[in-house]
Amino acid sequence: MQSNNSLPHDRWVAVIRGTIAVTLISGVLSVILAEILMLIISKGMDIQGAIAAFLMPIILATPVLFHVLLKTEQLKLANKRLEAMASTDWLTGCLNRRAFTHEVDEALKTRRGTLLVIDADHFKWINDQFGHEVGDRTLQLMAEAFRRATDGDGLVGRLGGEEFGILLVDHPEEMAALAADAIRLAITELEFLPGGEHRLSVSIGGAHGVPGTGFAEMFRIADERLYAAKAAGRNRIHFGAAA
Ligand code: GH3
Ligand code: MG
Ligand code: MG
Repeated sequence: MQSNNSLPHDRWVAVIRGTIAVTLISGVLSVILAEILMLIISKGMDIQGAIAAFLMPIILATPVLFHVLLKTEQLKLANKRLEAMASTDWLTGCLNRRAFTHEVDEALKTRRGTLLVIDADHFKWINDQFGHEVGDRTLQLMAEAFRRATDGDGLVGRLGGEEFGILLVDHPEEMAALAADAIRLAITELEFLPGGEHRLSVSIGGAHGVPGTGFAEMFRIADERLYAAKAAGRNRIHFGAAA
């Protein structure tokens, strides 16, 4: 089993390269400084002195430098993992609400996008009927379906409970509508229980926004559209546009 501190190959190479480069530079600088010093206090340095001046920092600094660079890389890796954990929803692996909100705000600063707020229909019934574990597994299957449907071309976040958010960036409105319908259909095709007797569905509220529209405004519209989709009978999509 790999330890949590184990570094990927390219980071090991960076540590070793860094150690070699810095110790060699130290060796050369040590020779130059020793030569200057010896010229001031004596008649310069012989070849044995130069070799000693070159090797001394290499012998002394290599283990210390290697240790420091290794610890630095391990710390960077640990930080990256912590950052990923802090922005990931533990159940579904999607971005959590905080990270999703932030990413949407960033993306919409310069680009246009469509925010989809997606809510599982009658999800309480699934929990009541088949148990919370099946409910959890179903949420995971839904998240996988969202990621497949967006195929890396969009942000997927869990906004809370059985509600997800997807941001489609730079999609013209008709394309975003087609993508949203593909997502809705993908969920109806999920087999969340063996046998496929029961079908899932989602209702989707969508908001188209121009560059500069923030998450809060997009969410307000999409959420309002989601309630309209629910009221109209569920398993459907209603769109609105941010001012
Ligand atoms: P609607 O079509 O109106 O959205 O109906 P609904 O039943 O989906 O909505 P409601 O808000 O009544 O219930 C949401 C349910 O989602 C209840 C809650 O237990 C369930 N839920 C929320 N988060 C989780 C979770 O992490 N795991 C499981 N298993 N269930 C969850
Ligand atoms: Mg629901
Ligand atoms: Mg809900």
